[in-house]
Amino acid sequence: MCGVFGVRAPERDVARLSYFGLYALQHRGQESAGIAVCEDGRLTALRDLGLVPQVFDERSLSGLRGQLAIGHTRYSTTGGNAWANAQPLLHHGRARTVALGHNGNLVNAAALRDEIGKPLASSSDSEVIAALIADDDAPLEDAVANAMNRLEGAASVVGLADETLFAFRDAHGFRPLVLGRLGDDPVVASETCALDLVGAELVRELEPGELVLAGRDGLRTVQALEPAGEGALCIFEFFYLARPDTRLDGVEVHGARVRMGERLAAEAPVDADLVLPIPDSGTPAAIGFARAAGIPFSEGLIKNRYVGRTFIQPEQGMREQGIRMKFNPLAEVEGKRLVVVDDSIVRGSTTRQIVQMLFDAGAAEVHVRVSSPPVVSPCFYGIDLASEDEMIAAHSTVEEVREAIGATSLAYLSLGGLEESTARPAEGLCRACLTREYPTRVPANAAKLRFETV
Ligand code: SF4
Repeated sequence: MCGVFGVRAPERDVARLSYFGLYALQHRGQESAGIAVCEDGRLTALRDLGLVPQVFDERSLSGLRGQLAIGHTRYSTTGGNAWANAQPLLHHGRARTVALGHNGNLVNAAALRDEIGKPLASSSDSEVIAALIADDDAPLEDAVANAMNRLEGAASVVGLADETLFAFRDAHGFRPLVLGRLGDDPVVASETCALDLVGAELVRELEPGELVLAGRDGLRTVQALEPAGEGALCIFEFFYLARPDTRLDGVEVHGARVRMGERLAAEAPVDADLVLPIPDSGTPAAIGFARAAGIPFSEGLIKNRYVGRTFIQPEQGMREQGIRMKFNPLAEVEGKRLVVVDDSIVRGSTTRQIVQMLFDAGAAEVHVRVSSPPVVSPCFYGIDLASEDEMIAAHSTVEEVREAIGATSLAYLSLGGLEESTARPAEGLCRACLTREYPTRVPANAAKLRFETV
């Protein structure tokens, strides 16, 4: 998962706008950040490993001037966290130079890379997209449409070339991308929360297969590809990825998550004294569960929000305490029958440690409720879930998972309950990691394609 942002605003500070846009999209990627600007046709990019405020300061931002800008926050998986893979990337091709930021993962990147037949600077599949556009002699609109036609998998893309900002979604629309307006200036972003922060008004979501171009001659939108069926927006965006204040097709994500919790309380009721979330993504569903069940809500577990994905490993004797880097229970859990609500269980190791921690703190019972169905299959479209072998529910019954995590009881939200909570037609959602029904061809060699998730 990654965040992308783009703006054309000749009279404004486009780098600063992008900086704030990326700040709002920080949750989509914490490993690298970058901004590219176009000043009178000249492209400049600044990107580095780290969080948005670590990569940019007042001096570096003031050096990025132009009429157009794009930005990117990146989340990479094993082996992918290298400077060369930070975005926006710049690719100098036969026909033009392209700056590009990509959210998603292609399933045919290896084949396209072979076809391109020249070495690329990065190992990410995003440069394949940039190279296709940069080497195409056709006018930009046709070159981007030609590239879109060749891609299989997930691609919500922002780019700069030929003094034009372009943005598109793949034919399935796996990853979100919205169009907004700041005065008369067009803005595109992964999520509406980025529009809110820069003061832009939402125009609409880009359709699957739609291409937007903003150049000197104004804004053009083109349905470059026939949408694939009803589309396949990732259902994980609803229960985990997107920021709660983001609106997906008019539906605020927080409200959808509260409904998931309410539905879960109806599907899997339990007698208990307190409902507590696994923060932060489990919080709205826990609020919904508590409200529907009439059980008091408690913070229960305090999260240290400053722990990143990588930290120095504690020495051997402290390993068991590792989970306390992130969570610590409040004394009020002692003697209580607890309902613990999380958004998903993938490997199960964190859940097992939290359950144990709550029993160690004196909980009488720990009932785990999950606001999504069991995750049973990998994602090929940009979410680094795990391989099937690592997924605790892939080959186990709910009772076996309960036993493995040590909970008093365990229940998942049904697929129907999840779909209804999104208030979006189920036919327009990808649910492949929950159902094993993939909307595209998927590669035989899964591990190879998961290594460059953005
Ligand atoms: S497989 Fe799962 S995580 Fe991947 S796009 Fe589909 S719903 Fe989202």
